[in-house]
Amino acid sequence: MTNKSSDTLIDFDRQHIWHPYSAIGANQPLWRVESAEGVRLRLADGTELIDGMSSWWSAIHGYNHPSLNNALKDQIAKMSHVMFGGLTHEPAIKLAEILVDITPPSIQTVFFSDSGSVAVEVSMKMAIQYWHDKGKSKKQRFLSLKNGYHGDTFGAMSVCDPVTGMHSLFSDTLTEQFFVDAPTCKFNAPCNEEDIAPLKNQLSNNHETIAAVIMEPIVQGAGGMRFYSPEYLKQVRALCDEYGVLLILDEIATGFGRTGKLFACEYADIEPDIMCVGKALTGGYLTLAATMTTKEVSETISNGNPGLFMHGPTFMANPLACSAGVASLELLLNADWKQNIKRIESRLIKGLSACEELNCVADVRVLGAIGVVELKEPVDLARIQPKFVEQGVWVRPFGKLVYLMPPFIMNNEDLDYLTHSLFRVLSD
Ligand code: PMP
Repeated sequence: MTNKSSDTLIDFDRQHIWHPYSAIGANQPLWRVESAEGVRLRLADGTELIDGMSSWWSAIHGYNHPSLNNALKDQIAKMSHVMFGGLTHEPAIKLAEILVDITPPSIQTVFFSDSGSVAVEVSMKMAIQYWHDKGKSKKQRFLSLKNGYHGDTFGAMSVCDPVTGMHSLFSDTLTEQFFVDAPTCKFNAPCNEEDIAPLKNQLSNNHETIAAVIMEPIVQGAGGMRFYSPEYLKQVRALCDEYGVLLILDEIATGFGRTGKLFACEYADIEPDIMCVGKALTGGYLTLAATMTTKEVSETISNGNPGLFMHGPTFMANPLACSAGVASLELLLNADWKQNIKRIESRLIKGLSACEELNCVADVRVLGAIGVVELKEPVDLARIQPKFVEQGVWVRPFGKLVYLMPPFIMNNEDLDYLTHSLFRVLSD
């Protein structure tokens, strides 16, 4: 393979390999990455790109990090994998210990799985089993927000935005869930009666069949990069309690400091009943996610019928992934991450504010280490992406959204270069 020319390799890829939301044989631009170090991706032709995406929220410590590399080397010398049924190991125990410690106090148990989507599936099954064991087996549906994104498997897909999630394509097989419009109250704004009324109505009318409300706290990611008021989330918590419905918070994108809090639910000072984490959990090294819940939910399921939680993936709590998780969380927690996110936030605000004056721009918003430039029209990805590469940066817009979520280790100089490049490409 290594002797083949780069064009031949790309050609093979185009004909035989699916990429995320892609078509086989499509002539979309594709770059081959040879290696990555710090905040830089090195392409096969030697070009270096400053990474503005952290590989979709995950590579918070950048690439090829010595501590993460060493943790994996140490673990690989002991064992890469072992089944989790009837066996356990230190990396899983250590990681669970840290997770229980840093998540809200009522969150006490951890179910490890392989990806964010699976963590969401698990959370939905937990909610259904909980109500079953409470004698309320009619509670099998979910209430979700429009513009939400929770993954690509069937359960997760059923609670994603119905339009962007293309529900009509899968309508005969996808469970129909309840939806309300995404909150319009902005991050710094109060949440008024009319903002929360649709969710309250849905709960009031349908709580007997709703197992849980599922939502992304504070930041709706892949469904629109929208930031909403912590007061809204606070009211959702209160309504869930009032109507006897669990609250699942999907912190897969927002978790581990990205928004300026360790978990975004801290902005609202509330605790979920079930919480999903993934993405940055291993610093972007390996795929791992977790669904965490309270003693109340865990004990109800464990003491119920059949007295077991009905899920158990082959690669559950993979030791390599767990040891990457431990190393990544230790790196994060031993640094002054809060101050660092503030630094990135102020740099993004400063750098992206220039975009506000551009004709094509509808809105610029920044929260923590997330910078979003929303355009008036959707971008032509095939046209715009090569322009970012020409500038020496890796930015991958979708729809009307051009956004940055850099690795936390990015210095000010690189951050400024990234935001200037974004401005230059958009002003073109
Ligand atoms: N939930 C949220 C909020 C996400 O952003 C994503 C991924 N973008 C997922 C779930 C699904 O995670 P994965 O791609 O690891 O299955």
